Amino acid sequence: MIKVYLRKKIAPRIANGHPWIYGNEVDRVAGNPEPGEIVEVRFADGKLAGVGYYNPQSQIVVRLLSRKIEEINEAFFYQRILQAWQYRQKTGYTENCRLVFGEADQLPALIIDKFNDYFVIQTLALGIDLWKPAIINALETIFKPKGIYERNDVPVRTLEGLEQLKGFLSAPFDTNIIIKENGLQFYVDIENGQKTGYFLDQQDNRRAIQHIVKGAEVMGAFTYTGTFEIHAAHYGAKSVLGIDISEQAVAQANKNAALNGLEKIVEFKAMNAFDVLKDWGKDGPLYDVVMLDPPAFTKSRENIQKAVTGYKEINLRGMKLIRNGGFLVTSSCTNLVNPELFLHTINAAAKDARKRIKQVTFQAQASDHPIIWGMENTNYLKFLIVEVTDR
Ligand code: SAH
Repeated sequence: MIKVYLRKKIAPRIANGHPWIYGNEVDRVAGNPEPGEIVEVRFADGKLAGVGYYNPQSQIVVRLLSRKIEEINEAFFYQRILQAWQYRQKTGYTENCRLVFGEADQLPALIIDKFNDYFVIQTLALGIDLWKPAIINALETIFKPKGIYERNDVPVRTLEGLEQLKGFLSAPFDTNIIIKENGLQFYVDIENGQKTGYFLDQQDNRRAIQHIVKGAEVMGAFTYTGTFEIHAAHYGAKSVLGIDISEQAVAQANKNAALNGLEKIVEFKAMNAFDVLKDWGKDGPLYDVVMLDPPAFTKSRENIQKAVTGYKEINLRGMKLIRNGGFLVTSSCTNLVNPELFLHTINAAAKDARKRIKQVTFQAQASDHPIIWGMENTNYLKFLIVEVTDR
């Protein structure tokens, strides 16, 4: 194996368990590895950092697959995926789950979502993309899937010199499937939905609204296919309005409402939530519960402040639409705004909105997306419920 030696003075990140090695942390490469080749990484003092895949075209030149010297082959991927599955089985995520959550499962840049008998995969770096056949074989052996699909139509792949593409990795199948969650049913559009088609990371959080929505008039913004809103109707809300900017998502959300026989209670409209929150704050309707689950406002460190301003703005406006004693259900899915900063931002929003808030629940993503200490990017989802009262 070709050896990559790290500089003397590098951040303790790698020693603390983080698997990424940036170009500026490399002192020298003893040889000429091919893009994607497995290399051995050593600290300046000669101690082993691990083995991983190499890509000189990426800012992250090596991603470690293992902390010991071992052969990276088809059996390695089978074992890793089996371990990932065993963890989901032990923690109670079997029907639908994120089967592989990249770095957290020691399979950097690999995402596999399991929707019952169907699997959607993303290989987001060259070094893992090359192992696609081994990954498919492992899935075939462990699960005998009805279908496997790749959603590699994502821009991050270009940072790795990879093309963006999507398609079948098994015999073709109908990519509009139905999954069950918390006793409800949802259509998942594997081919054209956002990301892998469905946001599994909120599956436990959707249950957390059970009590606060009883008999309530509910408004949800950034609803995607309407999962939270349909849960609200299911848990006894009087009426639910959901808003998303995507016509496609709204059509799917209304179909999901009908699929569960809840179309008389919950309705979805295609609108810009920023406009709605702004306009309705003046003389619009009030609600007992407002739910916000916006997309990541930033993907880069430079824009954290902008993202914080965005979160503050929508949450402030959201609070103003809530009747005295109602609830705000609010999420943030970017790891760059950490939990502490998120809570601080909601607090600042409450202050400016002249509201008092009481924390009901504060959670992260479901445990099939495990958080690994020392890898901040695995701790990304914040889910907060607060009671909102007038000052
Ligand atoms: N709550 C959803 C996930 C929401 S993802 C679930 O659990 O499944 C974020 C959503 O925000 C996407 O569906 C996207 O279409 C929507 N969105 C982005 N910008 C928006 C805007 N300006 N107004 C309304 N919706 C927007």
